[in-house]
Amino acid sequence: MADKVLIAGAGIGGLVTALRCQQLGFAVEIFEQASGPEKLGAGIQLSPNATRILRALNLETALAPFINQPHSALFLNYQSGAELLNLPLGDEILNRYGAPYWHIHRADLIACLSVAIGKKAIPIHYDTKLIDFVSNRDKVIVIDEENKKHTGQFLVIADGIHSILRDKITPPTPPRFTGQMAWRGTLPSAALPRSTTHSVKNFLGPDKHFVTYPIRQGEMINFVAVTQTSDWTDDSWRQEGDIAQLRQDFADWNTEIQDILQQAKSCQLWGLFERPLARRWYDGRAALVGDAGHAMLPFLAQGAAMAIEDGYVLGGQLARYSGHAKALSDYQTMRYNRVKRVQQRASRNTGLYHAKGSIARLNQRLTLSLVGKLHSAGLDPFAWLFGYDPVSGFSD
Ligand code: FAD
Repeated sequence: MADKVLIAGAGIGGLVTALRCQQLGFAVEIFEQASGPEKLGAGIQLSPNATRILRALNLETALAPFINQPHSALFLNYQSGAELLNLPLGDEILNRYGAPYWHIHRADLIACLSVAIGKKAIPIHYDTKLIDFVSNRDKVIVIDEENKKHTGQFLVIADGIHSILRDKITPPTPPRFTGQMAWRGTLPSAALPRSTTHSVKNFLGPDKHFVTYPIRQGEMINFVAVTQTSDWTDDSWRQEGDIAQLRQDFADWNTEIQDILQQAKSCQLWGLFERPLARRWYDGRAALVGDAGHAMLPFLAQGAAMAIEDGYVLGGQLARYSGHAKALSDYQTMRYNRVKRVQQRASRNTGLYHAKGSIARLNQRLTLSLVGKLHSAGLDPFAWLFGYDPVSGFSD
């Protein structure tokens, strides 16, 4: 009988790990505390390092109606809209990396992954919160809130930024509020007075930035506005946002932003938390995947991508070795430095995106201009990030 992989969490990381493990011949069972597939959230960006994995899991056709393939990534002055950097995405990135750049609503991605899971007859137990596990020589037993026990050979801990199972593996380090809030929302493109390009636009201003891009084949517009605050008093990490307040906060920004905020009916407000990179990623027969191990700021658009990479690599490791200790220790070795670099870069981008004052803004202009020049000279500064390829072999 095939070894069984138990998965805590039906988020992006958990579902991708499930599909990969099933593809490699494991039996899989998923436990999710929510009552169904998560519908909250807004758009996310999926760079080639993530899309090549989704394609390898045969998801491209199912995802096609929901994605948008942007032409370019534009970095713009927050008021005038003057271009600070224009990075081609579209066909150029497809040709360079052999995988596309996509935008998608997080709920659409979760829904497609969940349908794929259903087609493979992988059980997802909704309304089932896991609270503990015990790992021994030949099995792992997870315990849910109703004290029911479930047994398998491996446990994948993909229960997100507020993971409670993580603390059994690595010294407890609670999520840390980063002083940033993200206001996220979507609206129909048809509601806008002017048509918009198929690009991701990053408007950069002092202490704030505003990102917008189309999703669902251009039918919807996604926006994320990031502002700073010294206090986040709510216990939860997301709440209903006050759209009137958001309009006021961005009142003197570019007209394109005014158009979007005038037409948007609502938004969600997310406190942005980081969780220090877990020092240890596995213990016994259990391993961490995604935000549970390394929640990061969204300023490199890589949180979901890292969860996708983790899940794909972990599945491969479990299939490769008969001994779980070697499989999991190699998994940590393969992932640790990459995730650390991505998490640090995402953090560092705060200063670049939110530059305030003449010197910081000059530095911003010079840095973005250098990135553009390197790119034009064929020295892609994102090669280390987008070129990562666990599907056909590792490139770093
Ligand atoms: P999650 O998606 O959070 O899933 C965890 C799941 O586990 C949830 O379904 C939860 O209900 C469940 N769960 C929790 N506890 C338990 C339990 N005890 N038992 C059972 N189930 C449990 N990433 C990108 O790659 N690109 C982007 O452009 C991007 N933009 C972002 C913008 C913002 C504003 C934010 C906040 C994040 C963004 N991210 C982005 C990050 C991305 O959404 C996350 O990194 C990603 O969803 C992490 O996936 P995960 O599977 O680890 O966790």
